[in-house]
Amino acid sequence: MGRRSAVRVGVLDLQGAVSEHLEALRKAGASAVAVRKVADIAGLDGLIIPGGESTTIGRLMEEYGFLEAVPGEVGRGLAVWGTCAGLIVLARDIIDGVAGQPRLGLMDISAVRNGFGRQVDSFEADLEVKGLGPRPFRGVFIRAPYVAEAGPGVDVLAEFDGRVVAARQGRLLATAFHPELGDDRRLHRYFAEMAGG
Ligand code: GLN
Repeated sequence: MGRRSAVRVGVLDLQGAVSEHLEALRKAGASAVAVRKVADIAGLDGLIIPGGESTTIGRLMEEYGFLEAVPGEVGRGLAVWGTCAGLIVLARDIIDGVAGQPRLGLMDISAVRNGFGRQVDSFEADLEVKGLGPRPFRGVFIRAPYVAEAGPGVDVLAEFDGRVVAARQGRLLATAFHPELGDDRRLHRYFAEMAGG
């Protein structure tokens, strides 16, 4: 009693790293559900678009009606967090993407797909993330994109090697790495607070 009910966050479950996000959200104190169809978004405070393959996720989002439905939900207050491939799906522009790859394009950023080079398949790095306090966040990058350009309404939250790897624009959050891997739950808490606020 007197306790606010848990923030409800969905993880888009069409392709990619879903179960780790669900687990991480629960550990961060949110209630977490897999989202497989547009109707599953009803009643959610936030939605995560996970890492995976942005071309596949975008295509499936188009096929299942998410590309049409999500912008309206964001207009009604849904918070959206794109991680890795999800960042690409959120981006206004995609550099080195597949021509015409379907995407939401809601965030005023340009994303460079596989921006760290194909040969550098994956790596980890300690990141200073604005809003998380002084302790570094260990970012796991897997064929990760980065943000080449960000519009004036976009707040840069973290950079690595001079490249933007985390950013926020109002109720939209984008991270180039995989915050669901590892056991630091600060970014999931950050998003749950953002979605519930
Ligand atoms: N390189 C992938 C893409 O373009 C993203 C990789 C990931 O999500 N780990 O979609």
